[in-house]
Amino acid sequence: MESVLPGLVQEAQSTGTLRGLPTGNFIDGAWQVPVGGAMMETFDPGTGLAFARFAAGNADDVDVAVRSASAALCGRWHSMSPAERGRTLHRVADLIRTNAARLAVVETLDSGKRLVEALGDVAGAANCFDYYAGACDKHQGETIPLGPDYLAYTLHEPVGVTAHIIPWNYPLSTAARGIAPALAAGCTVVAKPAEQTPLTALMLADLCLQAGLPPGVCNVVTGTGREAGAALVRHPGIHHISFTGSVTTGVDVMQSAAPNITRLVLELGGKSPIVVLQDCDLDNAVDNVLGAIFENAGQICSAGSRLVVARAIHEQLVERVVARAQALTLGHGLRNPGIGPVSSVAHLHKIAGYVERARLRGVRVRTGGNIRRDPDTGQGWFFEPTVLDDLSPMDEAVQEEIFGPVLGVQVFDDLDEAVALANGTPFGLVAGVFTRDFSTAHRLAQRIDAGQVFINEYFAGGISVPFGGNKRSGFGREKGLEALRSYSRTKSVAARL
Ligand code: ADP
Repeated sequence: MESVLPGLVQEAQSTGTLRGLPTGNFIDGAWQVPVGGAMMETFDPGTGLAFARFAAGNADDVDVAVRSASAALCGRWHSMSPAERGRTLHRVADLIRTNAARLAVVETLDSGKRLVEALGDVAGAANCFDYYAGACDKHQGETIPLGPDYLAYTLHEPVGVTAHIIPWNYPLSTAARGIAPALAAGCTVVAKPAEQTPLTALMLADLCLQAGLPPGVCNVVTGTGREAGAALVRHPGIHHISFTGSVTTGVDVMQSAAPNITRLVLELGGKSPIVVLQDCDLDNAVDNVLGAIFENAGQICSAGSRLVVARAIHEQLVERVVARAQALTLGHGLRNPGIGPVSSVAHLHKIAGYVERARLRGVRVRTGGNIRRDPDTGQGWFFEPTVLDDLSPMDEAVQEEIFGPVLGVQVFDDLDEAVALANGTPFGLVAGVFTRDFSTAHRLAQRIDAGQVFINEYFAGGISVPFGGNKRSGFGREKGLEALRSYSRTKSVAARL
């Protein structure tokens, strides 16, 4: 992989794109021109320039894909043993690793993220397929003791055709995290990547076919959310929807699912607190705060976007975070800067608007706050790493998800206040706790209203740890064996002997 990476980076840097990028939908094991013939452009956030064209799919493409996935449910996929399904998914993982350099460079061009982060996402996608590959033949039911005259047991059946609506911040990771457990459970897939980042999901579907998945088991239709996405989630042939995106769109998706009683998992926004106690390891806390909010330019549902800090260390911690934020270099993701661009010009202005309004309210902007260009090229959509200090609990920058490199700081005097601040938003996705006192850490983990709590390492965990939110962050869980269960339906069989 190392040997092809420099060549691909060089090609991308010198031509602004790569040869051989996918352009069609991937349906029934083949590249297909969209029924309506319409195409769209995807942009490199590091330059702000279009670098590829892809299919603008519509309801007709979605219908073809759902029919293909429905037909594939009963074919060779259905008759494969779980162990064989597992071997196929292991081959997908191997192929992701073989193609890691290309996937990562495409991901960087499409999403803007730094190449090292893209390489990490690709490695994570391969691990995800390995994890669920290994789970295929261990996903067993149970027997229920009804006494000597009865035999009762449960079966895990695949839920059927699953729809995956994928966001633009982690295009390949989110695709893998939904598709792998769905396939492991024996389901088939129709995925709709975000219109900003359509390419790596298409490449993944192609790798699935190469690994031996029968045609039609994994399909990808690209296009806008309004056309392709909406058509997919309201399609009566869909049995399960996995949606990752904004709260507003999540509400629409839930409404579209209702008439067909389609089951769904919603992974929506977050405004996750990092609660830092006075007795923490300060160096570790600083490192983690930086990663929690500035990785992927803050465009992470589970970003640690609120620093909830003990008054005694507030000034010291913020000073150190500010100094480190100021040292982050901005640049095109392929050059592995300290921080990359944000995904679109519209999103850039949305982030800037939050900071501008904060300034007008008199909030202290400790660092950052400005739109920038790549200093090497004068291009691209960048926002400075930003710290807003000493926010009040109901401040807009506390209550709303900014989804950019903007950290809001809140100060507490005692643990009850820390919990109240941590829980004081409409969201409940994840939280971080930093302290050397393990009893306090675990007590806080119980009291914080979030789907996942990280202690002394933000983002600790991995594919085996369930992930999902409370409150307006959604419901249902991705990752871990919980995801496998959510793509299965339980059938109970009870027999009188
Ligand atoms: P953002 O506003 O940041 O783009 P969205 O939640 O709208 O985030 O987008 C997440 C995903 O949802 C994307 O793949 C997008 O195309 C898709 N999407 C947008 N609107 C709808 C919709 N009405 N129905 C289904 N999918 C949609």
